[in-house]
Amino acid sequence: MTYIDSKEISKSYYEVLLVDSQASEAEIKASYKKLLLSTHPDKTGEYTSNNSITLMKEAYKTLVDPVLKAEYDESLTRTIQKQGFNLNGDGLDTYGLNEFDIEEDDEEAVVSCPRCQIAKGMVLSEENLAENGTSDGNGGYDIIVQCSSCSLWIKVKYYEEIETDSEDE
Ligand SMILES: [Zn+2]
Repeated sequence: MTYIDSKEISKSYYEVLLVDSQASEAEIKASYKKLLLSTHPDKTGEYTSNNSITLMKEAYKTLVDPVLKAEYDESLTRTIQKQGFNLNGDGLDTYGLNEFDIEEDDEEAVVSCPRCQIAKGMVLSEENLAENGTSDGNGGYDIIVQCSSCSLWIKVKYYEEIETDSEDE
């Protein structure tokens, strides 16, 4: 059994199983089944070379168990908040930071959730943007953020000209 250290994984379990964070149990099962079939030695393609079956099984086991899933979601949120997360955003809808409203007093960017519509469901602090984005190799950065109400994840693309007011120098 391979021990999987979440810090070493560049993809979330959702990305491993090619489902979004709101996928139902049935959707997760269907996608897992499809992926398992695609890992048959006769059909092994690019996907499998980057995603061990062990990891797929671990991801599946976690996401179909409501308790484990809740724990995983929480740890994923913590991981992202603490150190950023090198996600390639598979399965996530992408938004531009220009779709967010900038709240200058609180130094954060907010937008209502595209799924549950709650106002300011998605919040990105300047600190988050400055420290936790993942470079896309083209001068842009990607960061993912979760709705505080319905837990939907989205990916946000932004460029460096985020102005911070601090003039520490
Ligand atoms: Zn929401």
